[in-house]
Amino acid sequence: MFRTFSRPAVAAALFSLSLASATPAAAINLFSVQQDAEVGRQAAQDAERQLPMLRDGTTEGYINAIVQRLAAVAPGPRFPYRARVVNAAEINAFALPGGYVYVNRGLIEAVRNEGELAGVLAHEMAHVAQRHGTSQATKAYGAQMGVGLLGSLLGGRDHRLGVGEQVIGSLGLNALFMKFSRNAESEADRVGAQMMSRAGYDPMAMANFFDLLAAQQRGNPSAVSQFFSDHPSPQNRSARIRALAAQLGRGRGAQVGGLQTVQSRLDRMPAASRRQGLARTTSRLRRG
Ligand SMILES: [Zn+2]
Repeated sequence: MFRTFSRPAVAAALFSLSLASATPAAAINLFSVQQDAEVGRQAAQDAERQLPMLRDGTTEGYINAIVQRLAAVAPGPRFPYRARVVNAAEINAFALPGGYVYVNRGLIEAVRNEGELAGVLAHEMAHVAQRHGTSQATKAYGAQMGVGLLGSLLGGRDHRLGVGEQVIGSLGLNALFMKFSRNAESEADRVGAQMMSRAGYDPMAMANFFDLLAAQQRGNPSAVSQFFSDHPSPQNRSARIRALAAQLGRGRGAQVGGLQTVQSRLDRMPAASRRQGLARTTSRLRRG
């Protein structure tokens, strides 16, 4: 969600249009699953050097207990999912390829129940499971190199090895922090809602959280502006998730429990960084 990456937007859009007609967005990916894990680890190290991290065992333990329940039912490769907390007040979260999930302290403070938090985590983990990060990087690379070259890379399987490194070598790790397409966001909502239901949560909580964000946007726009710069309008998403949640039905699992304890711990800590300071240091980072 921290996506303010300056990208060749027009070229990338044209490129994705030309491929989208024939193939689903996530299907075009020059990276291997192993490379998702490798470039994700590098980008995670980069991000953690730049972001104010909140190292609190209780908070991380609680978040990761939810992450593990969702990971057990996630589709796609068995990435070693794990979450860390950014000591920032804005309501935001993002994920990097290979299973690296980041949640802002402001988001943990804002949720009204564990289901809402699980909804955000499931959405982020769905981006990882569907490999949206490296898929977007592949598209950007294609836009830069031209569709013809990409086609020849995709065509020759023997040449595939090492292409992910080539993409990162050419675009830099910032390619993994690009804004996701609307399609990728909708897919993350859908797959995330399915994960919630399977893990025993009510996917309706994800929609409720979008409604909360919409209300906050009216009352206190600065707290959620970053979230909305990275994500499509919450009203439309909420309606779509509600329809899907009604079909999926609510999961029947017990909660991890302990959100209130975590929230009151955070309450007692010194205030988190505000966006102004953070935005500059993370101007090259993005994501949702
Ligand atoms: Zn997203």
